[in-house]
Amino acid sequence: MSHVWIWLEQFQGKIPSIVWETMGVARRLADALGTGVTAVWIGGTIADQAGEAIAMGADVVQVIEHPALADFRFEPYLTVLSHLAKEEAPQVILIGSTARGRELAGGLAAELGTAALVDALEVSVENGRVMAIRPIYEGKLFARTYVERSPAIVTIRGRAFPKPDPDPRRKGEIRRVSPELEPSMFPTEILEWIQEAEGEIRLNEARIVVGGGRGVGGPEGFEPLRELARALGAALGATRAVVDAGWIPYKYQVGQTGKTISPDLYIACGISGAIQHLSGLRGVKVIVAINKDPEAPIFKVARYGVVDDLFKIVPALTAELRRRGLAKG
Ligand code: FAD
Repeated sequence: MSHVWIWLEQFQGKIPSIVWETMGVARRLADALGTGVTAVWIGGTIADQAGEAIAMGADVVQVIEHPALADFRFEPYLTVLSHLAKEEAPQVILIGSTARGRELAGGLAAELGTAALVDALEVSVENGRVMAIRPIYEGKLFARTYVERSPAIVTIRGRAFPKPDPDPRRKGEIRRVSPELEPSMFPTEILEWIQEAEGEIRLNEARIVVGGGRGVGGPEGFEPLRELARALGAALGATRAVVDAGWIPYKYQVGQTGKTISPDLYIACGISGAIQHLSGLRGVKVIVAINKDPEAPIFKVARYGVVDDLFKIVPALTAELRRRGLAKG
């Protein structure tokens, strides 16, 4: 059945927001193609998630349930998903552009003899063909690409599309398949999960990011930025220079060799605005730069700029948010 498929990525049973953003795209494409949306669950026991997927836009929830599949592992997930795709021949497979999603999309494309377009910012159907717009050359250009083979596999950038409103009256079908699993499909074993610090907001899901560069002067220089981030309910980001200096872990790095972010607001503190950093900011709606040097290249891309010492401006911003009762934490 040539439906539009979407992979219901989950971690410990929880489905991240990017999946629902992808569902909105899937619904739109399915309507344009005159077909339905199948949401594919691979994991341990499914409960409320099936109803949630239907309310968000799925017509069919295809459940591949097995205790051994509770945690994502590339090899078994790829095997069960590609096996099902060969049987059901979906027209399109949409996947959230997470690290796992991109890995799975590449594997699926190889297994199914088709192409994967990663990090799409726009997807539509033109004359019956799937078209995706995606950044190339570190985001300096945008390529409009048509997929000639079927299925068209596209990963969707987080926060590039709105999350649809759930409609609890929607009806859908739940189908179950029993996967045939063999030990050879599990070449890796998960020993433990290391949780991020409690309450920390993820960079690629954040609406606001406070970024710090070499201007913070040292590891302790991030403290006022953390305070501001807490007050704004924002995530913390960083340049490669400060990651390489060991001031902050790599997971905070934004840019060409770090994360690509798409918040509504990015507050760049003590960041010069090197091209490799800016390439991670293409999806940002508004950039505010705080830098002592009026010639810093960051001011060329910033909507608002403050030429001053960040150690004066950042605490003043936090204090002002608190004074107005707007601070979150
Ligand atoms: P700097 O360029 O040193 O800028 C520090 C800024 O702080 C200056 O503009 C200064 O005026 C300002 N400042 C100093 N003190 C204060 C103060 N008290 N108050 C206010 N402002 C102050 N970089 C990334 O970020 N991400 C990447 O993914 C990345 N990938 C790379 C990949 C390659 C192959 C290469 C070659 C480089 C890469 N880089 C990356 C590094 C990049 O080229 C820059 O070196 C780096 O982004 C600079 O970081 P910065 O802005 O923190 O430091």
